[in-house]
Amino acid sequence: MTKEFTDPWGSTMETIFVDGSAGEGGGQILRTSLTLSCITGKSLHIENIRAARRNPGLAKQHLSCVRAACQICNGQSQGAAKGSTVLDFQPGPVQSGDFHFDIGSAGSASLVIQTLLPALFLADKPSTVTVTGGTHNPLAPPFDFLNETFLPAIETAGFQGSCKLIKHGFFPAGGGKITFNIQPWQKNTGQIIDLCQKSKEPQIHARIYTAKLPEHVAKRQRKLLLQSGLSIRNVEQIEVEDSDGPGNCVMVRLCGSERTTVFTAFGMRGKPSEEVISEVVSLTEAFLTSEAAIDRFLADQLLIYMAIAKAGSFTTNEFSSHLQTNMEVIKKFLPVDFYVDRQKQAYRISCQRL
Ligand code: AMP
Repeated sequence: MTKEFTDPWGSTMETIFVDGSAGEGGGQILRTSLTLSCITGKSLHIENIRAARRNPGLAKQHLSCVRAACQICNGQSQGAAKGSTVLDFQPGPVQSGDFHFDIGSAGSASLVIQTLLPALFLADKPSTVTVTGGTHNPLAPPFDFLNETFLPAIETAGFQGSCKLIKHGFFPAGGGKITFNIQPWQKNTGQIIDLCQKSKEPQIHARIYTAKLPEHVAKRQRKLLLQSGLSIRNVEQIEVEDSDGPGNCVMVRLCGSERTTVFTAFGMRGKPSEEVISEVVSLTEAFLTSEAAIDRFLADQLLIYMAIAKAGSFTTNEFSSHLQTNMEVIKKFLPVDFYVDRQKQAYRISCQRL
């Protein structure tokens, strides 16, 4: 719902009302709304924040997103407190700069960065964003995905940046650090996201991260990966030295000539390695046996870039609830529509200006 009203100083402002319990009902509704509020200059009123999550309301990561959004545009917010389920946000003009944020927990640094990126890509000068928090978190894009899958995908539409892992941070200790450099969007090149062709026979590589864990964990995971039925060329074992606490994740990387897709599963106390490997292998197999060009996670993350360009298309193997919900949120702010074409073994998603 959109409502126009005149503020006490006489200017006409538009506020976008968002229901945080709609669809997926998670943090992405808040993050996408903040991003688009910054870009469009429209104020945001959001209720029922993260209503579908076990711990509804704003957690530290989401609070960092709100504070970070305020900082890049000199915006104001009401309701930015831990556990709050209602937030008002009034953006100002976005300014490029050198920004530093500390989430203060193992909350995902990637998600805070992704909240700011689209607005900073639209600024007239380069920016740098450095975030301290988790770099390898369950239910969020790990650094490797950000670097190898997400960045090259948005670059196809002229959004150029680079990122660097300064320090690893695993849940629950956190304390990791990522720096992201953002160049102003090369809008005039006319490039759009066109990721519809499946990669031909990508090479399959695996990567195991362990921090402060006994050696046998990675050894066993390596053995399980090699027995998994995927034709894995090599398994890279990374013993992380700079982590504040223990951590473990297993990645399968599909390296094609045009793109790399990183799938990840996380180990945690009490979760057998069999389960970790089976999770990452299932994600990979579901993708490989489809006709999709991009994975289900990248799919929901690319929508906003297609919407900014008001054009673009991709194929993905799952019409996830994140994907569906994000489309609905974006349509509230920008004059675009998304089209979903269910094909034989993939979904083709496209975006057009209204
Ligand atoms: P939410 O659950 O609403 O906070 O949104 C989580 C975001 O993290 C979505 O954009 C997901 O696509 C992304 N995400 C979750 N798990 C992964 C993963 N394993 N790899 C990459 N991105 C992920």
